[in-house]
Order: sequence, then C-alpha cells, then structure tokens
Amino acid sequence: MDLCSQSQRGALREASRKQASPRRWSRVNGWSWPLHTFQAVAWITLFILAFANFGIFVPLLPPDWNLVIYGVTGGLFCFHCVVHLLAISIDPAETNVRLKNYSEPVPTFDPSKHTHVIENQYCHLCEVTVNKKAKHCRACNKCVSDFDHHCKWLNNCVGGRNYRYFFCSLVSASASLLCLITILLYVFIQYSVNPEVLRSHPLYEDVSKDTWLLFLPLFPVKTKTLVVLGIGVFVLLLSALSLLLLGHLLIFHLFLMFKKLSTYEYVTQNLHQKTPEVPAGRKELSFKISMPQRAAQGGPAAAEVSGSVSHHRHVPGELPAAGESRGAREGSQAAPGMRTENAWDCLFD
Ligand SMILES: [Zn+2]
Ligand SMILES: [Zn+2]
Repeated sequence: MDLCSQSQRGALREASRKQASPRRWSRVNGWSWPLHTFQAVAWITLFILAFANFGIFVPLLPPDWNLVIYGVTGGLFCFHCVVHLLAISIDPAETNVRLKNYSEPVPTFDPSKHTHVIENQYCHLCEVTVNKKAKHCRACNKCVSDFDHHCKWLNNCVGGRNYRYFFCSLVSASASLLCLITILLYVFIQYSVNPEVLRSHPLYEDVSKDTWLLFLPLFPVKTKTLVVLGIGVFVLLLSALSLLLLGHLLIFHLFLMFKKLSTYEYVTQNLHQKTPEVPAGRKELSFKISMPQRAAQGGPAAAEVSGSVSHHRHVPGELPAAGESRGAREGSQAAPGMRTENAWDCLFD
C-alpha cells in the first residue's frame, strides 16, 4: 500500500511539475534574443551588394553619369536602411501589451483551463484585452496589433505599427536591385564592346590593359580582369536571386493590398477554400499554401507561406470563413498547444 501511495504521489508531483512549466519572456522587437540566421543573411547580403555597387561597379561608369548614379543608388540605399531598421526596431505589439512594459514573463498556456489563447478579445497569455485583429504570435510570444505575419528576415512580427516600413523596405530593396542589375549589365556589355569606356578615370593611364582598379577614387586597389569579371558574375547572380525573392513578395503584398487582406487572412481563407468539410470534432492538419494557381489565373506570382493549423468544426470564427471580409473574423484562436499556427513565415521578411 505504501508503494502504491508513493507511486501515486510521484505521478501527481510529475503532473504538477509539467503543469507549472517555466514562463517564457516575450520578445520586444527584431533585436530581441534569439536572433535569427535569416536576419544575419539579409544584412550580410545587403552590405555585399552595397560594397560592390559603390566600391567597384559605379566607379567604372562614364564620368558624365557617375554622380547621378551615386546619388540615385545612394539615396535608395540610405532610404532602405532607414525603413529596414524601423521595421525591425518597432515593437508591433498591441497597446495594452506595450503598456505592461514586458516586466514579467508570459504564463504557459493551459489547455485544461482555456480552449483558446484569445477568448472574447482577452489574451490568456498576455493577460490583457486586445483588439479584434490582434493575434498572439508564438515566435514573439505576445499579441501583435493588426497581425500580418511573423517575418524571419526581420526577426520581428509585421503588424499595423510597422507594416508601412516593411512594405517600403520591399519597394526600396527591389528598386536598388534593379539599378544594380542594370549597372552590371551595362558594364558587361561595354566590356565586350569597348572596355576603354570603363577605364575613363585618370589613374588608368598608369596601369596595363589587364589591370583594373577597385574602390576608386579614394582607395584604388589593383586587380586582374578575371577577378573583376568573377566578382561581377557573383554579384549579378546574387542580385538576380534577391530580386526574384523580393519582387515575388512585393507582388504578393500588392495583390493583398488590392484585395484588402492581410497575409494571415489570405492564408486562412485559402485554407478554408482548399480544405474539404471537416468531420465533427477536431481534425489536425498541416498545410503549405502557395499561389501558383492564382498566378495561372492571372493573379500574382506564387508566394509561399507554411504552417499548421487545427480545425474545430463548430468553434465560431477560429479561422475566418472563406470569403469573409477583412476584420470580420472574431478574436478567438486556438492554443499553441493545439497547434494552431499564428506566426506565418514570410519569404523575405
Ligand atoms: Zn497574447
Ligand atoms: Zn512574431
């Protein structure tokens, strides 16, 4: 009997230990720990391309346009850095969450007490009242105002407070990449037609025809033709790949603006359109939504969003119904423990 009661007490202790799992702190913005690898990749790519543009390829252009191109690409680069930094640094949380000042860690969701993280516009994790369009992001562990998606490239959520900066960073990055690709194509074409046009700087008078100068006019570094061509091909491929991803995402967000939808609403609507009637009770499924079929119908090119979601057949408004208008959904959502994903990954974001 003693053994039996000891084992029961042990099981109870284990159960209570599991229930009292440690609280997690909420992340404030894109600089909060943990940082994301994609965030570092985005900044490294940005600086490689800027370095190549200003240090190597713009100085090869004819002196007549040189200053104009410095002005245009420099202006775009500075604007992009500002809006990119703002999109990362702004805290997109709900007002009531920000007023709490993140002074305490967030409790763990207890599915035995609540069906949803947000019920009747009250978040059981943030322990505050939230607006209808707020969602509790699992990655940031807080409610985000006018939730659009969680972006790994910014390492921050994109919501009502920072969406315009996110969008401006997409536009400025795409425009900068278009400029850089145009400059590179001009350099390659001119090199094959008449390389002397690219060697207009006075310092070229003292070097051999096989020698090129990088980082003109301030820090000239001599190098061979093959090195310049190799760098040019690498930068062209990197720019083209970046433009493909960013342009893709920009077109997707223009499409969302036209449809007056957020990324979250688009994904959940598509999920409902694609999912057959769910039998009574709960059904869990994983999904990967892309838009190629929209593109085939004349819509924008595909942008991919992935996640998992659980269906609850008669739970009102857990996900917006197909065709439901923006903002019409109610603010109740399933718990993280029930695998409803509120944090969408954006392709470049
Ligand atoms: Zn919350
Ligand atoms: Zn987030």
